[in-house]
Amino acid sequence: MAHQLRWQEANETERGDAPFRRQRDALVQQLAAEGIRDPRVLDAMRQVPRHRFVDAALQYQAYANVALPIGHRQTISQPYIVARMLELLLAPPQPNKVLEIGVGCGYQTALLAHLVPEVFGVERIQALFEQAKANLRPFRFANVRLKWGDGAAGLPEAAPFDAILVAAACAKPPAAWFEQLEPHGRIVAPMGDETAQWLTVWQQKNGQWVAETVEPVRFVPLVAGVE
Ligand code: SAH
Repeated sequence: MAHQLRWQEANETERGDAPFRRQRDALVQQLAAEGIRDPRVLDAMRQVPRHRFVDAALQYQAYANVALPIGHRQTISQPYIVARMLELLLAPPQPNKVLEIGVGCGYQTALLAHLVPEVFGVERIQALFEQAKANLRPFRFANVRLKWGDGAAGLPEAAPFDAILVAAACAKPPAAWFEQLEPHGRIVAPMGDETAQWLTVWQQKNGQWVAETVEPVRFVPLVAGVE
């Protein structure tokens, strides 16, 4: 009986998700046309059902290439930007252990779970942290650990990381992020204020941290403390 119930549940989930799969494939095609090249990223985006990370009332928009509200004045980032950041993150040397700052609804976390062996995520808003955990639970990722906390401090108990991926903008990366990176490590983050931000990659060159700007972006600000 229990077995039959599980089968019914799985079957219904699949039936409900079928139209979304077509929309998701179309979105991935659009991302490829807009210049996302890394097949690993495109494949992960084909796998992760973005509609399961937004409110039911917004699901019909889940595969539009736009940011959407997730409550608490925060947003799930635009798919194109998420894909772009993941491409920058996965460029050689391929990172094994990644820290994500600003987990939000957990969508990007799910993509990371498909792409790297070890994922650590920090979110400062407790309600979103709980939401992300609930959203991720059905996928049973064994390689994801989440913490409620202020990501400006990094995650010292799990450091060092090969890469840090940040989903909220600040003027300058906190020293803790550099301190918690391997020498070959990198930070992929939006840098700037409310008026202008650039997607930026920080890496060491000849022992110095160097910032390379990629493209203009618009993110919510990195906020201190927890709530
Ligand atoms: N990747 C997320 C994007 C969420 S928006 C998604 O796909 O849903 C950015 C998130 O960063 C918000 O949830 C916000 O609460 C969080 N954030 C902002 N400042 C933070 C900080 N100092 N530490 C941890 N999370 C922070």
